[in-house]
Amino acid sequence: MPDRTFVMVKPDGVQRGLVGEIVSRLEAKGLKLVAARFEKLPEQRVTEHYKEHLSKPFFPSMKEYIMSGPVFLMVWEGRNVAAIVRKVVGSTNPQEAAPGTIRGDFGIDIGRNVIHAADSPESAAREIGIHFKTTEVFDYKRIDESVLY
Ligand code: ADP
Ligand code: MG
Repeated sequence: MPDRTFVMVKPDGVQRGLVGEIVSRLEAKGLKLVAARFEKLPEQRVTEHYKEHLSKPFFPSMKEYIMSGPVFLMVWEGRNVAAIVRKVVGSTNPQEAAPGTIRGDFGIDIGRNVIHAADSPESAAREIGIHFKTTEVFDYKRIDESVLY
């Protein structure tokens, strides 16, 4: 199976009209969008998604923020895609994220950092399983694949 990762535009990114910009950056990088859905997440899936952070002091306010509006959920494909997307996204704290990264270019607040991306292939597989059915993930060819890969 090709490498896949899970990416989500958070409510602040959606509300600021950044969905298109984010999709464009990942497409232009040479990655392939293979699943996408717009949704307001139910509490149970937010808790499952962020279960490593359940005991953190910021968890209750983060959960409220993630559930405050619709998010744009995606699966992206490409060689080494999880690591590549994390680089394109930038550091967790937008104040420390390098210019040219999504968080570096579009955010200031760690609690409003625009985008989520899975931190490893293992996390990606787990998160894709939480948010997508296998029938929602599509297999197709980009016509520039011979140039990109
Ligand atoms: P990342 O999203 O870069 O993988 P983490 O997994 O460490 O970062 O944290 C998950 C999310 O929790 C962050 O993207 C951010 O929205 C939120 N978060 C992390 N640390 C803090 C904090 N100190 N205060 C508020 N929110 C935080
Ligand atoms: Mg994380």
